[in-house]
Amino acid sequence: MALLVQKYGGTSVGNIERIKSVAEKVKTTREEGHDVVVVLSAMSGETNRMIALAKEITANPSPREMDVLLTTGEQTTIALLSMALHSLGVDAVSMTGDQIRLKTDSCHNKARILDVETKNIKAYLKLGRVVVVAGFQGRSETNDITTLGRGGSDTSAVAIAAALKADECQIYTDVDGVYTTDPRVEPNARRLDSITFEEMLEMASLGAKVLQIRSVEFAGKYNVPLRVLSSFKDGGGTLISYKENKMESPVISGIAFNRDEARLTLSGVPDQPTVAAQILSPIGDANIDVDMIVQNTVGNGKTDFTFTVHREDYQQTKELLEKVCVLLHADHVQGNKEIAKVSVVGVGMWNHPGVAKTMFETLGEEGINIHQIATSEIKISVLVDSKYLELAVRSLHKAFELANDPTEEK
Ligand code: ADP
Ligand code: ASP
Ligand code: MG
Repeated sequence: MALLVQKYGGTSVGNIERIKSVAEKVKTTREEGHDVVVVLSAMSGETNRMIALAKEITANPSPREMDVLLTTGEQTTIALLSMALHSLGVDAVSMTGDQIRLKTDSCHNKARILDVETKNIKAYLKLGRVVVVAGFQGRSETNDITTLGRGGSDTSAVAIAAALKADECQIYTDVDGVYTTDPRVEPNARRLDSITFEEMLEMASLGAKVLQIRSVEFAGKYNVPLRVLSSFKDGGGTLISYKENKMESPVISGIAFNRDEARLTLSGVPDQPTVAAQILSPIGDANIDVDMIVQNTVGNGKTDFTFTVHREDYQQTKELLEKVCVLLHADHVQGNKEIAKVSVVGVGMWNHPGVAKTMFETLGEEGINIHQIATSEIKISVLVDSKYLELAVRSLHKAFELANDPTEEK
């Protein structure tokens, strides 16, 4: 008998039929003798619908009230699934993030989990009940309702699995595992049987939204066995683990991308100490995540400072940067919102210098201009115009022969 945490995403609970079918799956798991904690998302489209409602009232809704609003999506699905389980004769109880005492910091809309109490969940499990928990939500130190950022139910599930020391955290979604790239963009993408935490962390941080990045961080830190599976069809899915299961890991294991990047440049900044900190601190204070940073010396004691942010943060960042521009007597601020980031990821890359060459040649042959490059030991990222994103992903997938399984004999 195992203790399993099963998380079902928005599409998996997207309508009553789907909720009934999740109930059947949970019932089967119970009949196999396992204890089950279910973590749910809102029905697909529901969170977006509520965001749009709020935007009809104001362009800048209060982050606190946004969290009160958005958490209702998950509260709906936990009640409905519990009812569906009851009608199948399965004893189940729904619980909000507050009821399980999932504690977070006070950063509304992207709160971080501080602690998860297990007492209440364990008490219900002991009574033989399935505990159905609302994902994505918690309660702050000031007793406010908080949410964990888009896709945050994955992180709720992993945090609960870590706190309960569950045998496995299973993320049920609308794809049957982690692929070499998003199968919606490249139909030839191949499912991976396993992937290391390190690679999954890079893939998630570089845009592969199949798992929220914080869920992978959490799973790696607390060594939670994490598996991505389909709620629509059977199969073993993809196991995310520390082990590399091949004699030699493939040079490239996947391609990730992020369509929602924006790029800003502050030109003609005095080239002197503390300038980078002065540029970035108001942006950090506004809780805006900054990504690829490049500083170029242009002569005359001046430099250009360029970085990327999420497209949603573009306007606010631009306004902050314009203030910094005046303060530092810099020349001007430039921006581009139609930018996408494409990254090749692989732990086997570090000792293969040919990866960058293949990547840049492939993009060049397709006539795709590279605006910016960033590298680490296990990834190379480039910024390209948004309109070339699909072409870039598909041509790189082909160039690195990712559709072929490297463990199979040619
Ligand atoms: P859920 O609602 O279940 O949380 P998401 O939409 O958040 O599901 O995540 C699943 C989606 O992630 C898939 O439908 C797929 O389009 C996308 N995706 C992006 N990159 C990958 C990848 N490398 N492997 C699998 N799916 C990916
Ligand atoms: N409902 C939230 C979202 O759409 C959280 C989640 O689905 O994980 O982002
Ligand atoms: Mg998701």
